[in-house]
Amino acid sequence: MEVINEIKFTMPSLSVNEGAARAVVSSFLVQCDPTVEELSDIRTAVSEAVTNAVVHGYRNGRGNIGLTVRLLPDRVIYIRVKDKGCGIPDIEKAMEPLFTTAPEEERSGLGFSVMQSFMDKVTVRSAPDKGTTVTMRKRLFAHD
Ligand code: ATP
Ligand code: MG
Repeated sequence: MEVINEIKFTMPSLSVNEGAARAVVSSFLVQCDPTVEELSDIRTAVSEAVTNAVVHGYRNGRGNIGLTVRLLPDRVIYIRVKDKGCGIPDIEKAMEPLFTTAPEEERSGLGFSVMQSFMDKVTVRSAPDKGTTVTMRKRLFAHD
């Protein structure tokens, strides 16, 4: 994978860092001159992934969340959100719309659906007690 530019950011799993992650992604994306809609889509997708790491991955404690943002050729944005939390036993099921393990916390089970609709591709790797890595890509509109 040819990487044109990359930033890496590590943060503890505090919900205030959901905003920090959005800000980091936004400032990285300035160089790509995204549309308002693209910027908003990517910020939302990142927020959902980081929120999941905070509220599900590290549910019973605190750990680090790694955020990697890359600019790849052809204006493709690559984002990786990684935690070393509890992991997901059944990824396919977890990604179904409306599936949630936290209904009592007013979670709606739509985070992965939001990521999938706002990004071109979403991949989840996870193993119980090892953690979860969400990788997302989106190609920005070409413009001069
Ligand atoms: P919402 O995002 O709508 O508030 P939600 O977080 O439950 O609700 P999704 O984001 O779609 O919905 O996630 C579905 C389920 O996948 C979660 O309820 C949780 O069980 C599991 N999950 C998601 N991300 C992680 C993670 N990083 N670590 C462990 N489990 C996760
Ligand atoms: Mg969620």
